[in-house]
Amino acid sequence: MSENKPLIEARGLTRHFELGKGQNVHAVDNVSLTVGEREIVGLVGESGSGKSTFGKTLLGLHDKTAGEVLFRGEALPGSYRSADYQRLAGHMQMIFQDPYSSLNPRMTVGEIVAEGLRLHAGVSDGMARERVAEWLGRVGLQADHMSRYPHEFSGGQRQRIGIARALILEPDFVVCDEPISALDVSVQAQVINLLGELKESMGLTLLFIAHDLSMVRYVSDRMAVMYLGSLVEVGRADELYFNPKHPYTEVLIGSNPEPDPELERSRPSTAIQGEIPSPVNVPAGCRFANRCPKVMDVCKTVTPELIPLKNIEDATSKREVACHLYA
Ligand code: SF4
Repeated sequence: MSENKPLIEARGLTRHFELGKGQNVHAVDNVSLTVGEREIVGLVGESGSGKSTFGKTLLGLHDKTAGEVLFRGEALPGSYRSADYQRLAGHMQMIFQDPYSSLNPRMTVGEIVAEGLRLHAGVSDGMARERVAEWLGRVGLQADHMSRYPHEFSGGQRQRIGIARALILEPDFVVCDEPISALDVSVQAQVINLLGELKESMGLTLLFIAHDLSMVRYVSDRMAVMYLGSLVEVGRADELYFNPKHPYTEVLIGSNPEPDPELERSRPSTAIQGEIPSPVNVPAGCRFANRCPKVMDVCKTVTPELIPLKNIEDATSKREVACHLYA
């Protein structure tokens, strides 16, 4: 649980995609997660684990199959197509993974960044230009960049443009969907630092989706680990990173290189064995059972619930784990 007042809460959020013939892709299954005011929660897991679908369903960009989403205690309508959702849309934004395809190549940077202002805030052209100039400065670009086109910028600069576009409306909640994975390693840290600074100066609340745990831990207050559409562990970022409890979190962290060489040498390294099961034929019991080095008989039939860990060394940790080892 977050220690801050809840800003956005998913309760049993589920998103399945129909394949026909009675088959469904279980992209997100019964996920409950709260993000508190001014908190950054890192949502991590391998690709295909349902992280992006969860983020989009949370924002109403995908219709949910079951469950609910509350924003400041108010239940959100099911889909972005509803008028109620449009009223809340300015409060919630998304920063996309790919800075190459997410910016319209035919629009100038000024038009791209000002688009949300025109749609949701109804500001005049003169005011929009002023705000765009201010925001380009805040993300480390220059005001005169507004008359240029996206192809004139590097990947890192384009992601800064995407950040300015998302934040110019001063949203309360932002889903960052793998915002650094398409960037060079040297640029990733700059974008992470920028988001961290903006979080401090604006009091932003972020859900930061990524598969690179070592980067995410630097900006996150808490981390949530997702596997095959379900959460397996939630806890404070550093505690979870250095003292993982769920066997999947352990191997996920062990298989992720740590950028700090000192830390990398001190960590045990493990590789994840086996294949992630198909989200169409989700196995009974624990979804990680076919890859888990600690699997027991009960794991193959009984699904473990995400519950607070009682016997953790630090009683204030508020760690939650879905694993029969801790039942
Ligand atoms: Fe491994 Fe069983 Fe825990 Fe699943 S419930 S992670 S199979 S020990």
